[in-house]
Amino acid sequence: MTALEREIIELIGHEGPISVARYMALCLGHPTRGYYATRDPFGARGDFITAPEISQMFGELIGLWCAEVWRQMGAPARIALVELGPGRGTLMNDLLRAAKALPEFRSAIELTLVETSPTLSKVQARTLAGAGVPLRWVTAVEEALEPPLPTLVIANEFFDALPIRQFVRTSAGWRERLVGLSGEGALAFVLADAAPADMRLPERPAGAVLEACPDGIAIAARIGRHLAAHRGAALAIDYGAAGTGGDTLQAVRAHGFADPLSAPGEADLTAHVDFGALARAAAAAGAGVMELLPQADFLERLGLEQRAARLASAATEEQRAAIAAAAARLTDRTPTGMGALFKALAFADPRLGPLPGFAESNAT
Ligand code: SAH
Repeated sequence: MTALEREIIELIGHEGPISVARYMALCLGHPTRGYYATRDPFGARGDFITAPEISQMFGELIGLWCAEVWRQMGAPARIALVELGPGRGTLMNDLLRAAKALPEFRSAIELTLVETSPTLSKVQARTLAGAGVPLRWVTAVEEALEPPLPTLVIANEFFDALPIRQFVRTSAGWRERLVGLSGEGALAFVLADAAPADMRLPERPAGAVLEACPDGIAIAARIGRHLAAHRGAALAIDYGAAGTGGDTLQAVRAHGFADPLSAPGEADLTAHVDFGALARAAAAAGAGVMELLPQADFLERLGLEQRAARLASAATEEQRAAIAAAAARLTDRTPTGMGALFKALAFADPRLGPLPGFAESNAT
């Protein structure tokens, strides 16, 4: 039993069953025993691999996207660049290197990294030691958006790590799914006794499961409000779809799926992102929302193929094969491939018009 598991069992013993959101927040964000607080989980030897860790091209293309949006904004002399959940800092490092192609953009950047894990903040500080831009760390989105500056917000695999609540439709109505204790005193999923008082849920057949991510919605709304007031754009890339439906809570450990209730704090817990809910929140706050794009389309429209060809022209044969394999993996359109499963959502100051790679959407 992990120390965190003991702590959660004790908590439930005192307070009764806790929401899936609270469980997820403890597993990922517990200050000393949480998943992100205790390790650097990325890469071949970690639990999972993310797009920026697959290839430098990912961060470079996002860097060129940022530079293009900056130009579209009229090239402001100062721009806040905010990354949510920067992991190892790899995406930002590649982004800033690509931004060297446009020195005026690079010198306008004031960088803020939003990170709750002290372990990963240290890794980011090492990665970005030579970044050459003003740089600060904060733990909350609210703090990152304090300066009233035009702002670019980047988030890759950030929203999927935010805690979700789950609701199950029973024959008696909707019930929130909670984490409680089994007869043997182990962690087990249970249902609340009464309907949730704070949620209005749509009519669904018995057995249906719905998820909600209140933190994600609040963050999208907060960013949308900032962009509408101070100009700028946001780009969120994550796995998920335009809507929600079904139980998508998953635990990943050593590149394989695990039981979300076993070994809390030792596995990564995520859920599919409901991009429709984020888009509606940003739009309600005054932002213009772009069409939702599969990652493959987004990267190809930004010029992944050309970028890969350019890298390959100066590479050894072995490197050329690795570049081609990485590009293929990032744009894999088979149903479980990154190119199809991951989506790119962008929203912006509505005066900006369509952002590079995107068409405007009125589907919200
Ligand atoms: N963007 C990186 C890392 C993705 S993993 C990449 O693509 O490789 C999720 C990241 O979000 C980690 O850095 C994690 O520590 C951070 N994180 C998770 N929950 C957070 C929260 N509530 N606030 C800020 N950062 C958070």
